[in-house]
Amino acid sequence: MSFDSGFHLKGMAMTLNDFSKVLNYIDGERIPSLSGETLDNYEPATGQLLGTLPDSKSEDVDLAVSAAKKAQKAWGELSPEVRGYHLENLAQGIEDHIAEFALAESTDNGKPISVSKGLDIPRAAANLRFFAGAARYQSEEAFRTRLPGDDLLNVTVSRPVGIAGCISPWNLPLYLFTWKIAPALAAGCTVVGKPSEITPLTADLLARVAIHVGFPPGVLNIVHGTGPSVGSAIVGHSEIPAISFTGGTATGAAMAHQSAPLFKKSLLELGGKNPTIIFDDAPLDSAVEGAFRAAFSNQGQICLCGSRILVHKNIIDDVTESLLKKISEMVIGDPLNENTMMGALVSENHLKKVESCLQTAREEGGKILTGGERFSPEGRCADGYFLTPALINGLPHSAKTNQEEIFGPVASLIPFSNEEEAFLQERIYALEEVLFG
Ligand code: NAD
Repeated sequence: MSFDSGFHLKGMAMTLNDFSKVLNYIDGERIPSLSGETLDNYEPATGQLLGTLPDSKSEDVDLAVSAAKKAQKAWGELSPEVRGYHLENLAQGIEDHIAEFALAESTDNGKPISVSKGLDIPRAAANLRFFAGAARYQSEEAFRTRLPGDDLLNVTVSRPVGIAGCISPWNLPLYLFTWKIAPALAAGCTVVGKPSEITPLTADLLARVAIHVGFPPGVLNIVHGTGPSVGSAIVGHSEIPAISFTGGTATGAAMAHQSAPLFKKSLLELGGKNPTIIFDDAPLDSAVEGAFRAAFSNQGQICLCGSRILVHKNIIDDVTESLLKKISEMVIGDPLNENTMMGALVSENHLKKVESCLQTAREEGGKILTGGERFSPEGRCADGYFLTPALINGLPHSAKTNQEEIFGPVASLIPFSNEEEAFLQERIYALEEVLFG
């Protein structure tokens, strides 16, 4: 098997606006699961069925692995330059169709179209370009060992490890899928990728772009389906020596448990519970703006969201008032409207999970100052999974609400009196994380 030096068929017609049928992408072709079984895919902003995706099983993963294995040698032997051209063709294919990709992302995930257009999709293309460049300019290390009577030069040689299994979550679907696959492809690995079953659309559009730009068959394979069937089959597969995963901490722990005895190389990017700390000498407007954006961007569904806001007690009343004002001015509604600031949560299950976290906050004695209510916009989004942004106070650091990831539009205010107290709480939190998980 050999590949040419890369080309780009710019301007040819390609259908990217049909969301009804997501397919697997194996050996350069879009195909259904071998069993023909499918899962339903819903639009979070309307609660309506969007279409189906393959409900793949281990046999589909096997098929993808054999395609990836067949393509691996030729791909790994290409120069980084040429692999870079292929990745840049994919990036260009995305950039040529930003509007269609953004529409698909917001429809599938519920995030505002301005975020998809301005951040998620451009960043997905940038990921491919970044790793195309990084592989081109990667230097290899040499170091010298001088012993009596001997002078040795040791050289580090980077070689592709083989097939990489890349598994990604739903909150930044194409952005994080490309963040997983791009470094593996640039390094000369072939890939069996699994996007989240909750947001499969843009990975399917990427497959259509890959076919369109002549991306080499078998190098990138995409298998859709659930974590327990497809994800677990990838993690446990004997022909996949490396796993790159982004997702929840509990899933990461289960994967580490499965892959550690197989001595796989694994990269796990997991959950977060981050503090924003505002001191009393901070410029109030920009500090509040930063805390607000950190807490509520992407409906609070980002691993690095600032979901705990630690505020010096001298200014906590002012900060609270400013945050409440900003929350009250937020435009919540149809993610496809350009002026929407907060869209829908990703699924009904996730909405219920966030609501149960708010119930926990109430039971712990927290006061919900605003929000946390279901919201029904007028028109096509009346049955969507909307929740008004919530601001809580009155809970100590140790409360479950302040310790566990909520991953929704919920922020908790925690006062502190001085730097030592703020950092001590943070150190205790970090220590508890290390000791007790
Ligand atoms: P998740 O862990 O439920 O799912 C992530 C992916 O893993 C999905 O593709 C899923 O199908 C798959 N999966 C589930 N069970 C599996 C199993 N047993 N074996 C293999 N694969 C399995 O996470 P999610 O709900 O999709 O995403 C939200 C989480 O992701 C949050 O905790 C968030 O903090 C985290 N996240 C972390 C980062 C980061 O960079 N650290 C970035 C984004 C999201």
